[in-house]
Amino acid sequence: MRLGVFGGTFDPIHIGHLVAAQNAMHAAQLDRVLFIVANQPWQKEGTREVTDAQLRHLVVTQVLAPIPGLEPSDIEIRRGGLSYSIDTLIELHDAQPADELFLVVGADAASQMPTWERAEELSRLARLVIVNRYGYPTISHILDFDEPILAEMPWLDISSTDLRERVRDHRPLQFLLPATAIDAIERFALYREQHPRNAMTGEDQGRPTGSSARLD
Ligand code: ATP
Ligand code: MG
Repeated sequence: MRLGVFGGTFDPIHIGHLVAAQNAMHAAQLDRVLFIVANQPWQKEGTREVTDAQLRHLVVTQVLAPIPGLEPSDIEIRRGGLSYSIDTLIELHDAQPADELFLVVGADAASQMPTWERAEELSRLARLVIVNRYGYPTISHILDFDEPILAEMPWLDISSTDLRERVRDHRPLQFLLPATAIDAIERFALYREQHPRNAMTGEDQGRPTGSSARLD
């Protein structure tokens, strides 16, 4: 089994992720690509509030359900704490030692890899697949990975950051992400605004609506 390992925050999942995974699968002849939903993405610690991991995983699961070969994984959520790709590769390798692992990253993430936790150990466990990303230079060498596989895809200037801003500004989302993901954003009232703060204490009072909505 040639297994793609595609990590992300997926907050929210969008068409850029799907096209990237599909083209990585094609370029590296992968049998499956796992969408590894980060529990606590350490890169985003302290910079913004990340949506509840179970909810992000639920939306990824619903979006991927009809797509052959692309599968959700909650391996980092089950592990808990900060999410490091090296721990995920070790866990996947130990579970299925016969699988060949392929770490799939966009060019922006690839350029950050030297800062990742125990980065020098990654190439022992996986080969690297780099997908081009709009706004970021093409990278063909990183760390000591032997000949990364370069997967091409159409430049799609889509990011979760931009989609969250679009929700806040009431701009259209249609066709930038799957309809199931748009439905979830509405149903759980995601990304609408900064949480209101208690005027006296300054404490975050949680989402204005939807935070107690059931996930099923
Ligand atoms: P954010 O803006 O919150 O960082 P994002 O759109 O970058 O969100 P992530 O969940 O951070 O999405 O990214 C997961 C993986 O998907 C990364 O490897 C990233 O490079 C890749 N990726 C995301 N969007 C694209 C895109 N439009 N084209 C190519 N790769 C992408
Ligand atoms: Mg990102």
